[in-house]
Amino acid sequence: MDIVLVEGDITEQRVDAVVNAANSSLLGGGGVDGAIHRRGGPAILEECRALRASRYAGGLPAGQAVETTAGRLPARWVIHTVGPVYSRGEDRSHLLASCYRESLAVADRLGAATVAFPAISTGVYRWPMEDAARIALTTVRMTTARQAASTVREVRFVLFSNAAYAAFETALAESP
Ligand code: ADP
Repeated sequence: MDIVLVEGDITEQRVDAVVNAANSSLLGGGGVDGAIHRRGGPAILEECRALRASRYAGGLPAGQAVETTAGRLPARWVIHTVGPVYSRGEDRSHLLASCYRESLAVADRLGAATVAFPAISTGVYRWPMEDAARIALTTVRMTTARQAASTVREVRFVLFSNAAYAAFETALAESP
């Protein structure tokens, strides 16, 4: 399994699955969520609304993941996951790790070979980039080491700024 870092826009990635840093309403928001819905078109929101009307009437809890179509994005699926809001008083890193683990489990169930992740929780949810990068890389490495039979062959982190890219590059070099 390859881990690849790129600086760019996740909505332009040709991959099987694009992971969305959604909010628990699943009804769209700003940041990467807004960009995915804008570029992917209304088919994604339509499926999100159906999920809200059925399986996730109370919203998608933080740390969980669910797939929809990717609409007009150059991908097959969007995997929506809800990152935790950063808290200085409470350690929520297990929830951030769970986002990566659960998204990879969904990708594997779908049979996806390539998966693109944004830096979950590092925007509006304010998680410090260096720490988020460390959690992301450690979790992806541990998950894929445990699931040797997974269909996922490439995990691509798509970083939206030079600073985010640099943080992930450092964390990648340091992760066990
Ligand atoms: P969260 O609410 O989980 O913090 P955000 O969407 O606010 O989610 O931010 C998550 C990360 O995604 C931030 O680092 C932000 O800069 C980045 N981001 C925003 N737009 C894009 C995009 N089009 N492609 C990749 N990353 C993006």
